[in-house]
Amino acid sequence: MKKTISDIDPGWLAGKTVVVRADFNVPLNGGHVMDERRIRESVPTIELLTNAGARVVILSHLGRPEGQPKAEFSLEPVAARLSRLLGKPVVFIVSPTGPEAAVMVHHLPARGVALLENTRFNPGDEANDADLAAFWAGLGDLFVNDAFGVAHRAHASTSGLAEAMAARGGESVAGLLMATELKFLEEALRAPERPFMAILGGAKISSKIWVISALLTCVDRLLIGGAMANTFFRAMGLHTGSSLVEEDSIDLAKKLLCEGRERLLLPIDCIVAHDLVDGAPTRAVPRDEVADDDKVVDIGPKTQALFAEEIGRARSIVWNGPMGVFEIEGFAEGTIAIAHAVAAACDRGALGVIGGGDSGAAAERADVVDRVTHVSTGGGASIKLLAGGRLPGRDSLTERA
Ligand code: ADP
Ligand code: MG
Repeated sequence: MKKTISDIDPGWLAGKTVVVRADFNVPLNGGHVMDERRIRESVPTIELLTNAGARVVILSHLGRPEGQPKAEFSLEPVAARLSRLLGKPVVFIVSPTGPEAAVMVHHLPARGVALLENTRFNPGDEANDADLAAFWAGLGDLFVNDAFGVAHRAHASTSGLAEAMAARGGESVAGLLMATELKFLEEALRAPERPFMAILGGAKISSKIWVISALLTCVDRLLIGGAMANTFFRAMGLHTGSSLVEEDSIDLAKKLLCEGRERLLLPIDCIVAHDLVDGAPTRAVPRDEVADDDKVVDIGPKTQALFAEEIGRARSIVWNGPMGVFEIEGFAEGTIAIAHAVAAACDRGALGVIGGGDSGAAAERADVVDRVTHVSTGGGASIKLLAGGRLPGRDSLTERA
């Protein structure tokens, strides 16, 4: 078991400086925060620390600036939003790796909060540069990792920082968000009640398809939808028209079809459209009748019913990746139906965990967030954990005595 922030004596925190790795990877548009959920969710951890009398220095990445300062990925709008949510000033530190950062942190008032500029403006973050990690660790007395969304990466601002903190005799603990994520994903799924089902979909096929093999060793049923299903259709020799398909993964999909056999369930029909735009005419077709100019945009009504029936039988369900292009109103029905089926199973006492940014958004749109057991913010991390992979962000934390 890893230490969490709740294991730290609040009395010890008074007067200390705590470095917090948050996940403020929020969608921005022209300097506006489009979805503040991730910022809002970090507030309890920050307030726990400031209420105990600690200064808090927050690090986060945003987007993929590729090691360069880029204005469109600046965390400055996030600092403003965080300040509003906390109801107190948040000092924004423009240069997250320079000596000024250390000086500004040193001058923070008691219970003060600072946010450093995007960690990925420096190539050393993703390269897990040891000097950079040591610099950040040197800013505080304790490291709190609350960024579950990047727990599957070994970066300077995540596991590197924890290792640097240990090297100077300090501790690293899970924040409240990270602790909750680990609790549901690790503990609840350590010995899942059966039937145990996974549902996979979405678009990031190559980053998820390897998980299928691992999941097939522990689940009783694996439902596949979204663009991921298209790659399997191709592996089955079906035509997918102009749908999104990952050509490089077709061979792997063939292998998985053999491994999975009766446990792997693919859509039997699909919704197709010619264009990925709202209002585009759609047709429901059997999966072997997709025409050349068709794009598969959702699972079909027969699949919805089949999947819902399967979900109804499960006692533990993990879902990652929408069943279709749910951002477009006319293509969202399958995803919403699956969200309702998972929520209904949870109403009857099943364990239901939904993971992934887009899947979480779909759960919110379907208004099922309060009915399911847990909605995880980290798609890649949750799936890696389920598949038994290493999570450097967790593994680097201090062990509970
Ligand atoms: P998550 O964020 O939940 O991990 P992903 O990012 O892997 O999920 O996938 C979400 C994306 O997958 C959405 O933007 C959705 O539009 C897209 N998607 C789902 N089905 C299809 C499809 N059939 N064709 C194209 N895109 C799809
Ligand atoms: Mg996504």
